[in-house]
Amino acid sequence: MSKPAVGFLKATFQLACLGALGLSLYSCTTRPPERGRATIQGIQGPPVVRVALGKYFPAAGNTAPVAVEGEYRVVSARSGAQLHHGTALAAGAVAADRAGGIAVGVHRFPERDLRIVPVFDGTLKVGDRFYRGTLRAVVSDEGRLLLVNEVPLESYIAGVLGAEMPLDYPRAALEAQAVAARTYALFEMRRADQDGRSELWHVLDDTRSQVYSGTLRETEKARTVVQATRGVALLSGGRLFCAYFHSTCGGHTEAADLFFDVPRMSPLAGRPCEYCGKGKWSNWEVEIPKKDIAAKLGVKDVSGLRISQKTEGIHALKVEAGGQSWNGLAFRLAVGPDRLPSTAFDVEDRGANFAFRGRGYGHGVGMCQVGTKGMAELGYDSTEILRFYYPSAELLRLY
Ligand SMILES: [Zn+2]
Repeated sequence: MSKPAVGFLKATFQLACLGALGLSLYSCTTRPPERGRATIQGIQGPPVVRVALGKYFPAAGNTAPVAVEGEYRVVSARSGAQLHHGTALAAGAVAADRAGGIAVGVHRFPERDLRIVPVFDGTLKVGDRFYRGTLRAVVSDEGRLLLVNEVPLESYIAGVLGAEMPLDYPRAALEAQAVAARTYALFEMRRADQDGRSELWHVLDDTRSQVYSGTLRETEKARTVVQATRGVALLSGGRLFCAYFHSTCGGHTEAADLFFDVPRMSPLAGRPCEYCGKGKWSNWEVEIPKKDIAAKLGVKDVSGLRISQKTEGIHALKVEAGGQSWNGLAFRLAVGPDRLPSTAFDVEDRGANFAFRGRGYGHGVGMCQVGTKGMAELGYDSTEILRFYYPSAELLRLY
């Protein structure tokens, strides 16, 4: 059993790194460090993406409310052998037992890594959500239960689309989002390979990767959009790259390498955007008590808080206070991405509070989602939108 155990230890370590970065409202605001680009090779069809269900990953308990509304099989993940064939699985049925095995319903298996494989796609249920694909159940070294949804990439993207962009956005904007999300997922899968954890998981189901809630937001429209862009991804110099996106840039997107650990590359170099001015986050003002900021930053005195360096665009690159400095993105995440909408702001001292007047929502890197809506409403198609936000990127149908 050394393989799952090693995998789990690595996974736990990775999660500790990710967790340290905190959460945010939008994807791509809290990315772990990147290591450049991933080479495309050997993608013959939609790969299976392993989505760690964040609520059970790292595992909080040793049981999970899992159900299958129809026939299913239980298969050993190690040997592939079928362990059980059932007609239906009642909820509340999967648990790690004390001996290191797993119980599925009334059946107990001396395995710490197995798959529940529904015969009919989409009949698997975890909590109150339905999922396509299969469910991997793994017992951690601490005897806890980990759950991973193994699902074909195209089904995953159909679930991600409506969680990352309102499905009432124009068709061209949704297609651009589907391609960006697919590229992002493929890049994360390659990174998981490099990290040696892809045997267990590739992505998380929350904002640490892309938001995915099974089929909850998978509508007919979402499926149609995903099907229309099936297999299409963005490449730079023949390689996948981390296709960042965010809600609203506020007038200028920013170079990824200023905020994330990636090399400078043309598609992520930043550019002016004149298409998101009608969005609700185009202009905003918030006041935050100085004592709250001091507490979040861990400094005693923030009275001299100022932006000491801006990017070539509009976002804060370096913020100083109390003799210390922060990268603009790190400052926003420390203060709280729910309180400070973006890093494109000016600061004004108002006694007990600081007033931040700013533009945009999110980190400002890559595709501006509200801008894609603006472009689509002006008649641009998804290819034109993607080439605008990821300059010089190539669009390729991988399968
Ligand atoms: Zn924009």
